[in-house]
Amino acid sequence: MKMFKNNISIEIFGIKIVSLTYQGLLLRIEEFIQEKDTCRIVLLNPHLFLVAKKFSDYMKYIKYSDLVVADGIGIVLACLLLSGKIIKKITGTDLMPILAKTGAEKGWRFYFLGAKPGVAEKAAENFKKMFPNFNVVGIQHGYFSIDEEKKVVEKIKKAKPDILIVCLGAYKQEMFIEKYQKEIGVPVAFGNGAAFDFWAGEVKRAPRWVQNIGLEWFWRLIQEPKRLWKRYLIGNTIFIFLVIEELIKKIFNKFKLRLGQDCRRCL
Ligand code: UDP
Repeated sequence: MKMFKNNISIEIFGIKIVSLTYQGLLLRIEEFIQEKDTCRIVLLNPHLFLVAKKFSDYMKYIKYSDLVVADGIGIVLACLLLSGKIIKKITGTDLMPILAKTGAEKGWRFYFLGAKPGVAEKAAENFKKMFPNFNVVGIQHGYFSIDEEKKVVEKIKKAKPDILIVCLGAYKQEMFIEKYQKEIGVPVAFGNGAAFDFWAGEVKRAPRWVQNIGLEWFWRLIQEPKRLWKRYLIGNTIFIFLVIEELIKKIFNKFKLRLGQDCRRCL
């Protein structure tokens, strides 16, 4: 795990979240690529956090990643409530064209792994239209069997990417990175949920004003209610309760500490 200086970082639930602008993140990514070391980035949102609460290997993955940033308003608000500090938001979907633009300028090699057959291809085509020098050195859909996994890994290894973007959904995508990033030898890897679906135009993104008021999750919910109602209605409620519980614990601990100090002074 690398240490970064000069950036605000906030620890909530034992996870260190770094406040970075998109530009700041791009600089870090450039450093990672130049160092040719393997670095993991996590775009943390409440859904990922709740899955990680269920699976300790996933929580460990998040806690020991090189960089964890706040993907969305849920984590930003949790940080504000628990630490009083405002941190920057980096959404995985918005990061894609920013990364593709800089990658095209710098000659970075991208590999897209995940989503239904044809979807990542469409997303890559769209980036190529926007940035003609965008270089995607390989694409693989996300519906391969365990038996095919080794072949997929070999294919990625041969393509020698600088950045591997994995969209297999929470847990599966990060566990793929955990298992194979070193073997592949790709400097930068991160999971990015449904980002290929959005950039391929398979799923419609919320209008900017809906994103700005922090309701993108609601937009997704009304588009795919059957699949997402549990994640957003139950998941978000549980997340809010966990944040409130953590806040109460913090206040209680502060109060206990003060009481202890006052008692010692009285003796
Ligand atoms: N996916 C995949 N392989 C699987 C399961 C899911 O490639 O075995 C893809 C799915 O097609 C979608 C992405 O993973 O493109 C995850 O989407 P989801 O909506 O779960 O992402 P998030 O909500 O985390 O952004």
